[in-house]
Amino acid sequence: MKVKSMPTTSASEEVYRFLQERFKGDLLRPQSAGYEQARVIWNGMFDRKPGLIARCTDVTDVQNAVRAAAKVGILTAIRCGGHSLAGFSTCDGGMVIDLSRMRQVEVDPGARRARFAGGCLLGSVDGATQNAGLVFPSGVVSHTGAGGLILGGGTGWLTRRFGLSCDNVEGFTLVTADSSVVRCNSTENQDLFWALRGGGGNFGVVTEFQVRLHPLTTVVLSEGLTPEAGIRPLLEFWREFMADAPIDLKWNIDLRLAPQTDKVPVQLRGRPVAGSSVIWTGDPEAGRAYLDRALSQSHPDSVRTRILPFLTLQTMADSDFPHGRRYYTKSGYFTALKDSTIDLLVEAVATIPSPDTQIEFAYLGGAAGQVGADETAFGDRSAPFIMNLLANWQGPSADAGNIGWVRGLFNKLRPAMKPGVYINFMSGDEQDRVPEAYHQRWDRMVTVKSHYDPKNLFRLNQNVVPRDFHHQTRTSISSP
Ligand SMILES: Cc1cc2nc3c(=O)[nH]c(=O)nc-3n(C[C@H](O)[C@H](O)[C@H](O)COP(=O)(O)OP(=O)(O)OC[C@H]3O[C@@H](n4cnc5c(N)ncnc54)[C@H](O)[C@@H]3O)c2cc1C
Repeated sequence: MKVKSMPTTSASEEVYRFLQERFKGDLLRPQSAGYEQARVIWNGMFDRKPGLIARCTDVTDVQNAVRAAAKVGILTAIRCGGHSLAGFSTCDGGMVIDLSRMRQVEVDPGARRARFAGGCLLGSVDGATQNAGLVFPSGVVSHTGAGGLILGGGTGWLTRRFGLSCDNVEGFTLVTADSSVVRCNSTENQDLFWALRGGGGNFGVVTEFQVRLHPLTTVVLSEGLTPEAGIRPLLEFWREFMADAPIDLKWNIDLRLAPQTDKVPVQLRGRPVAGSSVIWTGDPEAGRAYLDRALSQSHPDSVRTRILPFLTLQTMADSDFPHGRRYYTKSGYFTALKDSTIDLLVEAVATIPSPDTQIEFAYLGGAAGQVGADETAFGDRSAPFIMNLLANWQGPSADAGNIGWVRGLFNKLRPAMKPGVYINFMSGDEQDRVPEAYHQRWDRMVTVKSHYDPKNLFRLNQNVVPRDFHHQTRTSISSP
């Protein structure tokens, strides 16, 4: 990487001076009150110190921040919910364009549509849409940013019923690298509309999402734990069951050590288990037989079925993934879950290095699987099994054990995977896998990137490098 001689602080000072006269939001420098709190992101692995945090209030603020960034050539991060597993929403010495003051949501109940600002959390969107008895399909933890989640694709409880989050976007408004405000949808700037549905933060700062909503206020949730000896038969059963499951049913499986809590049967606590979480979005009576069959492999004392308000479903995992812990992930797809893959998973769950580390499995298909591979930039939809190895631990002394466990298991499983990866489940050390994420769509991604961001101003992401681009920046990215 070429680095110009100007010190990083001078670049951020230059941007600060430019913005000082015209910026309506907050400009936080290391000496400012509130800076220490504002610089922290969700993944405690990234303790970075930006030279400037520009917390925007509206589109004009975003335009000014982008204009200054492009003029000075400062390393620039975009932050919505700050949940980037890879730590892309911060940097050392550069500027963070922070959208956390842009969280307005407007719902049109009659049209079943909403528009919301680029800094919204999932919880902001869910709260407003549920007031009208409607849902936008998104992720499973309400403190995640809608910005990063939707732009990468967005999977969650409703993916099989209503599609990925990005499949439900009808239009975007964004500020591109030349600081213009650009709109895109199915008739306007179609290439950009295509690329933003799965292409991450590569193309500009999205200031507004225009989305489709669906009626839903409650779901049935069944949960259960399968003891270690039952994990293999459970996975065998699951792979067959899901192939014909109705789209109203979503069944996620987590392989992990059972929590040491009263809710878990005594003999399972701290032991390797498979946790099943199954939801049914249709008529509860019609779902009963499916849920009973799905939970038939769980320990009877661990099974719990209830009808839940949608907002409860959306917040029930919030405390499992607290801010500030250390996280590392690797992810991939399987077209089929072979016996040999199940063997490796069963072996691995017995060696999990931390009580909160887990192997997450979901089965896509349903509405998400019906969208053609080339209709959006999002990765492969034909391989229904999506796996995320998510290590989650407390202090730096356990870094090597947890990261090493994820990498080692990933390398063993990799030969059975279908090439491809969901960009939102990637770590920061996987830039070499970005072309793999887009497969046959890569050339088109590069063309759109080269048009809208030829100098790669927006590079702190799963980066699509523009054609003929030679890296030149005043600041450098430091590793965690
Ligand atoms: C606890 C937790 C739960 C999760 N659950 C799910 C889940 O259920 N389903 C799922 O699909 N994913 C899930 N993820 C992954 C999640 O989708 C990504 O981490 C995503 O990047 C988070 O978005 P954010 O806005 O919070 O992140 P940030 O760190 O704020 O942003 C990440 C990147 O997204 C881009 N970006 C964000 N907002 C904008 C914008 N307005 N304009 C342009 N670029 C933008 C930027 O490149 C930025 O670097 C989860 C992550 C966590 C940490």
